[in-house]
Amino acid sequence: MLKGKTAVVTGGGRGIGAAIVRKLAEEGLNVAIIYAGSREAAESLCDECRDAFGVDARAYRCDVSDFQAVKDLCAEVKKDFGSVHCLVNNAGITRDGLIPVMKESDFDAVIDTNLKGTFNMIRHFSGIMMRGRFGRIVNVSSVSGITGNPGQANYSASKAGVIALTKTAAKELAAKGITCNAVAPGFVETDMTAGLESKKEQLISAIPLGRFAAPEEIADAVWFLLRSEYITGEVLRVDGGIAI
Ligand code: NAP
Repeated sequence: MLKGKTAVVTGGGRGIGAAIVRKLAEEGLNVAIIYAGSREAAESLCDECRDAFGVDARAYRCDVSDFQAVKDLCAEVKKDFGSVHCLVNNAGITRDGLIPVMKESDFDAVIDTNLKGTFNMIRHFSGIMMRGRFGRIVNVSSVSGITGNPGQANYSASKAGVIALTKTAAKELAAKGITCNAVAPGFVETDMTAGLESKKEQLISAIPLGRFAAPEEIADAVWFLLRSEYITGEVLRVDGGIAI
């Protein structure tokens, strides 16, 4: 049903986002990859999607935290692809620190990218979806947004905000044929968790399934929500049981 349709994936150049892009291209969707700094990775993933799956794939540079830049991005993607049917808000950052010493700039950067960035994308791209009376939005939250996590006041708050935003968008947009859901990963093997190597054994001991996730396992959950017709406002944990 989504074959031949167009998906926009933020942070699609690497990590979980790249796995999502590959999955969607494999399923026959055209993809717009949004990157901030990873131009080469995004361009080479476009080539890979075109060559391996014969879909249209294009890369766009955009800082999702910038309202006007996202507005311009939306116009450009619409011009290139004609319409947008699926939106995956995956771009995210961490700037960890305990509350008493957390810098204001680190709090703001994480909220601006993770929460406001997700809002900016839904704010601008939902218009295209409403006009087509069809849309599938999946936001990448985190178990940190469900349970809280010491050292991640900014990140946990941003990801909890993404969950509330998901539920609100689901209620507002349902009548226009648009669903909005979230995935909440636990620990996933990407650059974001690469710095945790020294603590990995201890972290794994708290995960009932005893390992970190592969990015492809998050991509599978995103794909499940994108192709679901009767699920909206849902938060799907993909965390090996860490937040049970
Ligand atoms: P990652 O490898 O660090 O990649 C982060 C991605 O976000 C990159 O593609 C980056 O683009 C993009 N990005 C960052 N700031 C951006 C901005 N201002 N505008 C546009 N794009 C921006 O992280 P990841 O592990 O794949 O994480 C992907 C998502 O999953 C994030 O939302 C993260 O919070 C969430 N998550 C991850 C884990 C985990 O354990 N890894 C767990 C739970 C949730 P560039 O490379 O182009 O700068």
